[in-house]
Amino acid sequence: MKFKLILFVILGLVLLGGCGGGSSSSSTSAEENATKNDAEPIKLNTFDLENKVVTLNNGVKMPILGIGTYALSDSQAENSVYWALKAGFRLIDTAKIYGNESGVGRGIKRAVDEGIVTRSEIFVTTKMWTSDYSNGEAAIETSLNNLGLDYIDLMILHHSQPSNDAVAYKSLENALNEGKLRAVGLSNYYEPEDFDRLVNSTAIRPAILQNETHPYHQSSEMKNHISKYGTVLESWYPLGGRGHTQELFNNSVISSIAETHNKSSAQIILRWHLQAGNIAIPGSSNEQHIFEDYDIWDFSLSDNEMTQIAELEKDTRFSTY
Ligand code: NAD
Repeated sequence: MKFKLILFVILGLVLLGGCGGGSSSSSTSAEENATKNDAEPIKLNTFDLENKVVTLNNGVKMPILGIGTYALSDSQAENSVYWALKAGFRLIDTAKIYGNESGVGRGIKRAVDEGIVTRSEIFVTTKMWTSDYSNGEAAIETSLNNLGLDYIDLMILHHSQPSNDAVAYKSLENALNEGKLRAVGLSNYYEPEDFDRLVNSTAIRPAILQNETHPYHQSSEMKNHISKYGTVLESWYPLGGRGHTQELFNNSVISSIAETHNKSSAQIILRWHLQAGNIAIPGSSNEQHIFEDYDIWDFSLSDNEMTQIAELEKDTRFSTY
């Protein structure tokens, strides 16, 4: 009996030690990764709301509010990008799979030709689609040609794809080292383990993670996890996405905060993203909405209002991918 009791205690201690060892070794590996290949200590990224930028983990400054171009035709994308640059946006988000990189490039060219912006004042993001992961170098060249640019500010992998996303990411790293890209990152990695899997098999820490994020899906766990790498969260579907914006706009908490500030619900949600530390890229082909979405710098949400919106969390994604 006494022998059995001793055995039981020893077994318990071994099990406890195993659990503790597991969790501490996983956090050590995240910390090691955060600084690997980089003598610089990790800095926390704080959003500079006055200058409308955040400094990424590689020192590059990225605007925190951008125009999204998902589901826009080539000609809609051209106009949206042009209007957005006129309105003051300096960040543009597109993807090869949207089929509108050429339109985005034309919109940029129009604004540059008219003296509204210079190339160096804007920040262009595009994404490598999953079917290109084995031919990353060619995909980067295609995006550069489509956009009509000499370099892309940020290129990200569009989705997690464990079979070959590390190979694709390495092609981004090579292009970064060659000066074709200024920053590299990821999109649609929803589990810390999946994010770590990619980071553990590549060399350069992702500058951003672009995931579906809005008041009903605030991405708090991932945001906390990626901050160990100095990686910033960027919100796609910041307003809930096509077909779901009204659910957020008509939410009583959001609409009553909107009334208090004499702003629209869209403006309240966008301001919430920025104060919460999420880069936001609302999409629109409507000139008036584009100007409205940029007009969010002349007010701020109180701590109490930020808390009220934080409490709307439902951990519900609108998209299934
Ligand atoms: P969103 O949340 O930005 O919502 C877009 C909808 O909101 C459109 O119907 C638009 O007309 C409407 N809208 C915009 N401003 C408005 C305003 N002021 N008042 C009323 N309605 C307004 O959704 P989205 O465009 O799909 O997402 C944002 C961007 O994120 C995309 O354009 C794209 O660039 C990117 N994105 C990335 C992924 C990814 O997998 N990485 C997926 C989807 C979208």
